[in-house]
Amino acid sequence: MLREFNPGQASFALRLTRHDLHILMGLITGHADLNRHLTLIKVKSDHLCPLCQEEEESSLHFLGNCSANMRTRFELLGSYVMDYNCLGQLQWSSLLRFARASKRL
Ligand SMILES: [Zn+2]
Repeated sequence: MLREFNPGQASFALRLTRHDLHILMGLITGHADLNRHLTLIKVKSDHLCPLCQEEEESSLHFLGNCSANMRTRFELLGSYVMDYNCLGQLQWSSLLRFARASKRL
């Protein structure tokens, strides 16, 4: 979801707490504390999403199409389902707000 340098987003990131920066960078890079990444680094053995049990719990699944987060996604991001391109156009503050509201990270 990193396309090009954005001074506004960089400024936003620099003002975050260490915890929020960890969450945001994890979501953007795919290294979030979600089951896909935790399985890759051998912390967990089940890569499925614990919320919906339908797909691997990647950042893209969590942010864009987990059925368990549809209502929160619609309320905070304006759509029930979002693909990679749509997610890449969101402000980082919106991604972080969604992550906080989901209470998954
Ligand atoms: Zn899910």
